[in-house]
Amino acid sequence: MNTDKCLSFYLNNGTLKGHFCRLTHSTAEALKNHNYPKKINKLLAEMTAISQCFTMDVKSDTQATMQLTGTSPVKLALVNSRNCESFRCCATLDSASEADLEELSVPQLFGQKGMLVFTIDFENQHYQTIIELSASNLQECFQHYFIQSQQIPTIVMLCSSDEENNISSAALILQRIPATRDTDSAEENDVWLEASCLASTVKHKELLNSDLPLEKFINLVFGSLTPIVSRETHLTFKCTCNHEKIVSIVKNLDGQNPDREIDVICEYCNKKYTIDKKEIDS
Ligand SMILES: [Zn+2]
Repeated sequence: MNTDKCLSFYLNNGTLKGHFCRLTHSTAEALKNHNYPKKINKLLAEMTAISQCFTMDVKSDTQATMQLTGTSPVKLALVNSRNCESFRCCATLDSASEADLEELSVPQLFGQKGMLVFTIDFENQHYQTIIELSASNLQECFQHYFIQSQQIPTIVMLCSSDEENNISSAALILQRIPATRDTDSAEENDVWLEASCLASTVKHKELLNSDLPLEKFINLVFGSLTPIVSRETHLTFKCTCNHEKIVSIVKNLDGQNPDREIDVICEYCNKKYTIDKKEIDS
């Protein structure tokens, strides 16, 4: 399998690090029960790929949530992932037509007060990052975030496609590891420049090309900087809903006192649960 994986790698004896994620079957599986417009499918697929890249450095039990919220036409786009191994996603939007959404930039999709919040929870620690929707697409929003708020030079590439019901996405993050005092920073500047030049030759369709295994791709692009893969994860779509969880959510909702059974549909996987009145009363 050449997709549904995320790789972490080092270049030039560890002076640069990168993450590369490419998803195909897992995103198609996660989105097949929804009838979202292509624009939303692609957005969720991109959010999933970059979420994986952001969490690859954390090796313990990790829960990550990337959430884009706004007003209209899209209220919410959400990706939930666990341990860089499984994820689920969903969106809430007005009934805008597919063609209307296609032309909209990311800030326009979410209307006023649009924002992206990314949280990672592991070992009782909670990290939250807010990313401004400052550019037309997600790739530029993340690139802008790294330029503005991080001191570490970073390159972000993020793309997706949705053709003939084949949804795929890819994310590549390349980052310079801060120099220590005993290293030659002039040489490291040159290496960063070389890596930036190599990355700039990569086209989106090459990132998405599922004929090319991920490791081979990294070797092809960054071969002159001797890449070393340090971690590889496989991703699948998995929803964690079950009957007991749904019952407990319904119980905690105010004003839920139905006369008889009620049907609840999981927003993530579209699975339908029928909850009996007795279960809510118990
Ligand atoms: Zn579910």
